[in-house]
Amino acid sequence: VTAGRHGPARDREAAPRLRPVDGDEVPPLRDRDARWTGALPADIDGALDAARKRIRTEQKALYAEGTRSLLVVVQGRDASGKDGAIRGVFAGVNPLGLETHSFGVPSEEERAHDYLWRVHRVVPARGMIGIWNRSHYEDVIVPRVRDTIDDGEARRRLRQIADFERMLREQGTTIVKFLVHVSRAEQRQRLVDRLAEDDKQWKFRAGDLDDRARWSEFTRVYRTILAHTSEKAAPWYVVPADDKPTRDLLVAEVVAATLERMDARYPAATPEVLALRETIA
Ligand code: ADP
Repeated sequence: VTAGRHGPARDREAAPRLRPVDGDEVPPLRDRDARWTGALPADIDGALDAARKRIRTEQKALYAEGTRSLLVVVQGRDASGKDGAIRGVFAGVNPLGLETHSFGVPSEEERAHDYLWRVHRVVPARGMIGIWNRSHYEDVIVPRVRDTIDDGEARRRLRQIADFERMLREQGTTIVKFLVHVSRAEQRQRLVDRLAEDDKQWKFRAGDLDDRARWSEFTRVYRTILAHTSEKAAPWYVVPADDKPTRDLLVAEVVAATLERMDARYPAATPEVLALRETIA
């Protein structure tokens, strides 16, 4: 319990299970890495609820403090569970404190600008948590996989992205990045389900199969990204995501710990406000 701060005292929990990617040891992103092999609590749902509660508590303080923001980047293949993870982790958090954005194929106007233009205009405002379903990293992934840029240009963009993220951090935005990692077999099953179920067909795009056919090209680009843009202050986490409840718990623990490390403070009441206490009728 943290004392000596404004607002309610908060419990601090153990470190998250997931470790950030360290640039020297790039995760191989094999099929078997899509299953978590570490310890899990007996009651995953209960643990997820506890992590969400920590997120709710910290979000209130972040909003009240109003000077900094958190940006959560979620990347992953089709049907890896990006949407599900966002839903699972942020369910119950005050919607007024969240700014979510999905980035699809760039529009004509977006293509007429540099690739950071469309993301920069929606970075979370002070006090807010921004959640990005896909991100500026798509502008390395898609063109590299389709061979419209070469390795040199990909590396140049990753350097620009690292610079951009550093600028955001120095201006008060904490950044945390998740690569939701699904196995080939699990992706296949989910795409099959998408085609079979009435309420999922709308999610299916023919392009999903083209991208699936380029599995190893995507793996290669993701690994390049992890190798060059995971920094202590803007880390990547690879999330084993074949099992959905485990996926949500792993992400929620990192988000909760990241917010707790930000240690947002409720502003102290001003003397003017304190004086008003005496006068309210
Ligand atoms: P999702 O598949 O995430 O549910 P959409 O179908 O609306 O959402 O759009 C995602 C598609 O947009 C993906 O195929 C993705 O690769 C593509 N996309 C996103 N950003 C870019 C980009 N910068 N350049 C090219 N394609 C992009």
